[in-house]
Amino acid sequence: MAHTTVLPPDHRPVVISGPSGVGKSTLYQRLLDEHPGILATTVSHTTRKPRPGEVEGTTYYYVSRDKFESLIAQDTFIEYTEFGGNLYGTSKQTVIDQTAKGSVVLLDIEMEGVKQLKTEQLRADSQINPRFVFIKPPNLTVLEARLRGRGTEDECSIRKRLARARAELDYAETGVHDKIIVNHDLEDAFKELEDFVFNVHSSRG
Ligand code: ADP
Ligand code: 5GP
Repeated sequence: MAHTTVLPPDHRPVVISGPSGVGKSTLYQRLLDEHPGILATTVSHTTRKPRPGEVEGTTYYYVSRDKFESLIAQDTFIEYTEFGGNLYGTSKQTVIDQTAKGSVVLLDIEMEGVKQLKTEQLRADSQINPRFVFIKPPNLTVLEARLRGRGTEDECSIRKRLARARAELDYAETGVHDKIIVNHDLEDAFKELEDFVFNVHSSRG
């Protein structure tokens, strides 16, 4: 798709979820790069340490567990969870900041956060009404290879992430997402995601 400057007709936030290592960051980073000014991503808070190349305030806001807990107490988050031994959460402020730019906001969150947003969506005074897309690996062997190939996790973290992946896949089977994309071939998966975000319904030849 050529670079567009037009907001898609349905420009509600898009929640991208899927097991760790499936390719979410790769896909949404390319979406952001190809559609600057239209798409924006929320910046979550986390207690995990930055990986090489990650940038404070862009990739995440990196905070201590104490700080995160005080933010919970201040009702900062629209959703939060513990994942792989670390806390992750989306602040109300980051959704407001990005939405104010007239952008389609992308959220990269895991299953427990998706469940919380699903519950939030049902409230009369809901602060967010997103669409949900799930990125699925071709199989668990491929997922493990990608997670290991990325070279960012120690063995303990890999095991926690793979254990959680099974629960994520089971949850996706319940039909809660608006769209499921298998990330086998990156190019195909990217086009499918781009079409979903930009509300292109026709199939590509
Ligand atoms: P996530 O954000 O879901 O944890 P990443 O985007 O970090 O996953 O991707 C994990 C690894 O898999 C990265 O090394 C990435 O380059 C690689 N990867 C992503 N998509 C594909 C694909 N379709 N085929 C092969 N490798 C991929
Ligand atoms: P990572 O440590 O690989 O950056 O992220 C681990 C997992 O946390 C990923 O599945 C990612 O989607 C999820 N995640 C990142 N930010 C948030 C957040 O703000 N809330 C929730 N619930 N999950 C998040």
